[in-house]
Amino acid sequence: MRYVSTRGTAPVLGFEDVLLAGLARDGGLYVPQEWPRFSADEIRAMRGLPYSEIAVRVMLPFLGGAIAEDEFRAIVRDAYASFDHNAVTPLVQLDQKTFVLELFHGPTLAFKDVALQLLGRLFDHVLAKRGERVTIVGATSGDTGSAAIEACRDRENVDIFILHPKGRTSEVQRRQMTSVLSGNVHNIALDGTFDDCQDIVKAMFNDGPFRDRIGLSAVNSINWARIMAQIVYYFTAAVALGAPDRKVAFTVPTGNFGNVYAAYGARAMGLPVEKLVVGSNANDILARFFQSGTMSMVPVMPTSSPSMDIQISSNFERLLFDLLGRDGAKVVEAMNRFRAEGRFTVSDGQLAEALTVFAGHRVDEAGTMATIEQTWRECVYLVDPHTAVGVASAAAALPSLSPDVAMVVLATAHPAKFPDAVEKATGHRPELPPRLSDLYVREERLTDLPNDLAVVQDYVTSRARAAASAAQETA
Ligand SMILES: *Cc1c(COP(=O)(O)O)cnc(C)c1O
Repeated sequence: MRYVSTRGTAPVLGFEDVLLAGLARDGGLYVPQEWPRFSADEIRAMRGLPYSEIAVRVMLPFLGGAIAEDEFRAIVRDAYASFDHNAVTPLVQLDQKTFVLELFHGPTLAFKDVALQLLGRLFDHVLAKRGERVTIVGATSGDTGSAAIEACRDRENVDIFILHPKGRTSEVQRRQMTSVLSGNVHNIALDGTFDDCQDIVKAMFNDGPFRDRIGLSAVNSINWARIMAQIVYYFTAAVALGAPDRKVAFTVPTGNFGNVYAAYGARAMGLPVEKLVVGSNANDILARFFQSGTMSMVPVMPTSSPSMDIQISSNFERLLFDLLGRDGAKVVEAMNRFRAEGRFTVSDGQLAEALTVFAGHRVDEAGTMATIEQTWRECVYLVDPHTAVGVASAAAALPSLSPDVAMVVLATAHPAKFPDAVEKATGHRPELPPRLSDLYVREERLTDLPNDLAVVQDYVTSRARAAASAAQETA
């Protein structure tokens, strides 16, 4: 299996290199040169298998032999043993046609764990094979830091440094990060804002000698392996509901377009998917695109579903690459126009092609709260605000779909991650699941640092094991 960049000029790479590279050297995103395809019989044969076995079958073609099947199976089993639920991503029925796919049973209660638990282990495996170490550095406003930390904790060849703005995350968010006491996890409480944290991380990536000395890397949302890991649960859900002999549709609460692009991949691999519904909150750039064929940037509005508060969906470029006939030069042209003018437009034909697969819906704050309330009242089921955007979008889309379709809404966060919004809508405060019930009494470890690039760089250099081995080699 080979991977090509959406911008057409970066080297064609195999799985291991794509895993470690993240972004392509030409600024593009890696996609498979060709999607592997499963026959209806192969999909039918997945029925009743455990999550980890379906995961191995779905992902193996993407590895192109880079990892032996038995080794890969052990890595996959270990990754999903960290989930609280035997089914890993269980389905819950809301009404005759609508099901919720719970993706929040991992260590940090959000769907990013599904991909990151595997990604951390794959990094470690490939680095060990190569005798290399990396240092992951990232900034968080509180939402995504813990998933990256949980993915990297105790990994032999990875050190992770996460900067958060001191005193500006919620206590739950901070504790989910700082109560991980593994020796390779370093929480930095920066005396500054989230933007200051991001600026420092960017400056570190732009400092070539520093970057090389510590083997700087990231586990960001454009990494191909994250998409690959997310394709799996579209298969497990669809076969549980009768695929390939029954059509399913999926509704995905969308931010960076990574999750719903994985659904597009599952469809390309032969899964019979009738429609992919893209759920947007008030930040509706994608819903407007699917209405008009124009992607146009507007300022971000804060909502109760912060992980979907986006101005640009970075993974959309992967879909655009296909819409533009897999012509990297055309993608470069569209992206340049987007940067310069804040908008680009696809042709009527290209929009029509996108609409054979996708539909977009927007759900505002009032609609989100009303959906949380209604789902609680009618189904005795608590949904977080992100999932509520999905539930409302699915209801809006259902009338235009076949009568026998099964609609699956992806639940991307546990309601206890957003207790205030859920309590406001329902009068019912969701409880943290048992694995986090002692969060408030756990020991914390973090380091306060000033908003000073040199100080942060010294701190990272003195603790990153990759820097120590580099120094030994030169000595
Ligand atoms: C990241 C995230 C999303 C958005 O997913 P994308 O892959 O970026 O579209 C939605 N909901 C929650 C809770 C998230 O953490």
